[in-house]
Amino acid sequence: MTKSPSQTKKLAKSLAKRVLKLKRVKKAIVLGLIGDLGGGKTTFLQGFARGLGVKEKILSPTFILIKRFPFAKRYLFHLDCYRINKAKELLDLGFRDFIFNPGNIIAIEWADRVKKIMPKGAIFLKFEFIDKTTRKITIKSKKWKK
Ligand code: ADP
Ligand code: MG
Repeated sequence: MTKSPSQTKKLAKSLAKRVLKLKRVKKAIVLGLIGDLGGGKTTFLQGFARGLGVKEKILSPTFILIKRFPFAKRYLFHLDCYRINKAKELLDLGFRDFIFNPGNIIAIEWADRVKKIMPKGAIFLKFEFIDKTTRKITIKSKKWKK
């Protein structure tokens, strides 16, 4: 539960630090963000990017589907699937190439729209609007141990 945008960013930063410690395997690390408009997905990713060491500021890419941010010789990809109707549209944009690069971290807003092509090991984050300044954020992942 977070009580302000800055609390959400702080939570995201600490998650980023943990993600950086994950053992690198063959594939990219994929984060799927789910929840209504205004739920805090982009706000979360702003903190997450900071935590990774991304210098640029992340904005809501509603009209730009994919944006790539460099950090420490790696890349954070920010995808917004709000305007995507079929998972295939992502495949046409080269989704598989991003996934099969172990250095990449891929954050996908509206991941429920492309559920079909989400990798098994993805970390899912659910954002729920509680009131004006409160959000409930739930993390679900097979990789995640308390
Ligand atoms: P989404 O990407 O899910 O549509 P955004 O991050 O773009 O959501 O917008 C979330 C909005 O809610 C922002 O205007 C932000 O200031 C506001 N907000 C209020 N409380 C919170 C909170 N606890 N966490 C995140 N955002 C919050
Ligand atoms: Mg957003």
